Amino acid sequence: MDESTYVVAMTGAGMSVESGIPPFRGVGGLWTKYGTPRMDGYADFKKDPIGWWNRRANKEADAHILELRDALEGAKPHAGHYALAEMEKRGAIQSVITQNIDGLDEKAGLKNLIEIHGNRTKLRCIECNERISLGSFVPLYAPKPCEKCDGLVKFDTVMFGEPIPDDVMTAARAEINKADCVITIGTSGTVRPASGLVWIAESAGATIVEINPNKTKLTALSKISLRSKAGSALPTLLNALIN
Ligand SMILES: [Zn+2]
Repeated sequence: MDESTYVVAMTGAGMSVESGIPPFRGVGGLWTKYGTPRMDGYADFKKDPIGWWNRRANKEADAHILELRDALEGAKPHAGHYALAEMEKRGAIQSVITQNIDGLDEKAGLKNLIEIHGNRTKLRCIECNERISLGSFVPLYAPKPCEKCDGLVKFDTVMFGEPIPDDVMTAARAEINKADCVITIGTSGTVRPASGLVWIAESAGATIVEINPNKTKLTALSKISLRSKAGSALPTLLNALIN
């Protein structure tokens, strides 16, 4: 990191797990417990948006969504989130690309943040990408159409079958193009297109550093692998950088 000029951190589910948010995949994952959900959530939503919102408000959603919602409501950033925010403030990292939807990075104070799978505390117009902070994980009724363009409004969270919004994808690619060092934190490197960004960075010559308690698909690309959890590795790294 000291030798690099533009450092981008990429965070995944492992980061949120330490704030009590269950992952989807793997041991203790919501899909492992409840089964993999249908892969056409976005099509379902577009077919009947008002029905979709009413089911959410009435807690008639899938069990894994309800468990996730409960976990999200009580979650707070941990020492790793705050260490990343401090690194950004000090110029040791330039941006964070997160796959997490919990909004904890923003709560910890990160500014140059790209939430590639959206943010569950925000609403987004599917036509013009206008976002509104909801301040809550549970809306009580279907939101009105977009004030700017009259488009359909949904949670900012990217659903199955929904493309990553072009504004965040463009911003993420631009960050990766500038990066000469990418630190992957708590991500298994299996979810596209986020994982593809690491390969793009590596083939362009960036140094890849991995922080993960387990070996992942990104290990082979990584010059350094720190086998540690984010909540302990990031504060240690911050200390090393400032001392
Ligand atoms: Zn709009």
